[in-house]
Amino acid sequence: MSIPKLSDYKAVVGRDVVEELYILASHVGNRSIKMVNSTAVGGGVAEMLHRVVPLLNELGIATTWDVIKGGADFFDITKAFHNALQGKEGHFGEEVFKTYLAYNEMNYHELEFEEDLIVIHDPQPAAMIHWKKNRKNRWVWRCHIDMSHPNQQLWEFLRPYVEQYDGAIFSSPLFSPELNITQYRFYPSIDPLADKNRDLEAAYVEGVLEKYEIPTDKPIITQISRYDPWKDPVGVIEAFKMARKYVDCRLLMVGDKAADDPEAEEILAKVNDAAGDDPDIKIIFLLNSIPTEINAFQRASDVVLQKSLREGFALTVSEALWKHRPVIGGAVGGIPAQIIHGYTGMLVHSVEGASLQIRTLLKQPELAKRLGDNGHQRVKDEFLITKLLKRYLLLLVALDHPGQPTILME
Ligand code: UDP
Repeated sequence: MSIPKLSDYKAVVGRDVVEELYILASHVGNRSIKMVNSTAVGGGVAEMLHRVVPLLNELGIATTWDVIKGGADFFDITKAFHNALQGKEGHFGEEVFKTYLAYNEMNYHELEFEEDLIVIHDPQPAAMIHWKKNRKNRWVWRCHIDMSHPNQQLWEFLRPYVEQYDGAIFSSPLFSPELNITQYRFYPSIDPLADKNRDLEAAYVEGVLEKYEIPTDKPIITQISRYDPWKDPVGVIEAFKMARKYVDCRLLMVGDKAADDPEAEEILAKVNDAAGDDPDIKIIFLLNSIPTEINAFQRASDVVLQKSLREGFALTVSEALWKHRPVIGGAVGGIPAQIIHGYTGMLVHSVEGASLQIRTLLKQPELAKRLGDNGHQRVKDEFLITKLLKRYLLLLVALDHPGQPTILME
């Protein structure tokens, strides 16, 4: 498949949506953006940047993407930061902050920041701004994580760096901390034409199931997520085991490893323990997953789970809804924006709740179909990449008019 061009999206979202982007881009004029994050593969941020960057370029906004570097010590720290910002208790020593800042300073000096807008994604590179003196361009911090219950010690350390930005983007009002800079609010998006989401031949889907030795004799319940405690993979296994007492089904757990994630193997071991030698549980761990295969796993699923305990957004939810799958999601972070309970999916608060919804959806295929169809429409209206492109264009305009405390970018 050739790489999709903007004009290809007309067939998905309508001609007017794509034309509006070109009109907006012409008003924005000759601008440039640099995106900076901490991994080129694995996780939702890298997933999005791979598509947003070329499409912004197509709109005439010269956009580049740099990935910061760090040793294992740095990524251990930034994973601990990620966990703490999502609410994990703990205390950080001064050495930790020193190491974090040393890597940020090093990366700052290795990169160039000539573009009109610098978008720094997530906490890993957030402090780099500190070394930028006399800047003429704008810097925005894009926070993708669930900051509804941040560890206060860490947040008090990071906040002075965040407040050096011209603005910060959060996905949800639930995550917005008090800041003395303008906040912008918008959700991430998925690309309907990327290999992860585009239509697939049924034979290809079958081939993927065969390759991974997944029988199709029973309904398939799937969770596709990094092996991360916030994704609650052990809770998924418990919910599945409870549900299976009433409805026969198989559980498929798929996860790959983000390059900046030191925790995956440890969590995977716990998942294997919880699964035991249950023949109906298939656990797949991939170093680099293949997007069309993830797409196939989602399409082959009777029910998709995203039983997160904290969640910035969960692209996986939109991906599954886009494929008309009924989705059961943890009622946390960005998931309720995608799943309207009982209308575009089911929200749950516990293992028992997840188990009950698995049973309900497997026993009521008409309900499951209705949720999947409504979910597809919701994603089409709110969470496709064309909307995200529009928001970045509007951000460029909004940054020319600073001063408002929060700007919603609907
Ligand atoms: N993903 C993948 N392979 C895997 C697990 C996840 O390609 O084995 C993808 C998933 O399809 C989604 C992204 O990684 O596009 C995860 O984004 P999400 O927002 O759901 O979670 P994050 O990992 O950013 O917390």
